[in-house]
Amino acid sequence: MTTTPDLADLARQVGGDRVKVDGLSRGSQDPHFVEAKPSLIVKVRDADLFVQTGLDLEIGWAPLLIQGARNARVQRGAKGFLDASAFIQPLEVPTVVSRAAGDVHPGGNPHFLADPHNALAVVKALEGKLAELDPAGAVVYKKNAEDYSARLSAKIAGWEKRMAPAKGARFVSYHKNMVYFADHFGLVSDGQIEPKPGIPPTAKHTADLIAVMKERRTPLILTNPHFERRTPDSLARATGASVVTVALTPDAVPEAADYISAVEFNVAGVFRALTPKQ
Ligand SMILES: [Zn+2]
Repeated sequence: MTTTPDLADLARQVGGDRVKVDGLSRGSQDPHFVEAKPSLIVKVRDADLFVQTGLDLEIGWAPLLIQGARNARVQRGAKGFLDASAFIQPLEVPTVVSRAAGDVHPGGNPHFLADPHNALAVVKALEGKLAELDPAGAVVYKKNAEDYSARLSAKIAGWEKRMAPAKGARFVSYHKNMVYFADHFGLVSDGQIEPKPGIPPTAKHTADLIAVMKERRTPLILTNPHFERRTPDSLARATGASVVTVALTPDAVPEAADYISAVEFNVAGVFRALTPKQ
């Protein structure tokens, strides 16, 4: 069982026929705010492995599901519990952890799978964990992980080449969830529509952001399908920037069937918006 659809896809890629993978949230949902429904608790009851993103992304619901399921195999610290964030280098780790004013990123930025390099690290972690739980399948998991990593690495090389002319391009995002993507492809953030991660936009903050975007000629506004469209559209009208919807995970948009096509969709959208129109 995985918390999010991106982890589900990566687990399927590594597990192949030997595992049954199901996700606990959909790509159309905000991963910070998923309701811990009884139907989800039932899903966790029979799981041999529970995979979460970590860095508090699912803090509001994953612990409730694990607790409610009373499944000893997947309790935090048990063999069947995997926290993907332990295998990546987190960005924006604060020196003092604070949830002040509702900040939902108190321990560092949890949206690390926006950088496909981090997916390679998570694939490796999944391979190790599945082999530990099912030693008879170790050879299969290794082969699957290697094949998928080779496929993803080739994709990454292509995306980097395509995005090279976009290096240094400025953007704002609705939520602070494109930090790792920007880090990988060399984009520069001019701020977020949310005043703090998890806090809805205010008139004052939006006016300030418009001023910043005008001054810096920010060309790009990145948002996600689960956010309202009114504020990004009003920013676009005020500044002339383009609004681009990005898929944080598979099935966030119809074009993103799996993890690779989600990143593909994001690279294509950003590239299109930054290329001067003829
Ligand atoms: Zn977030």
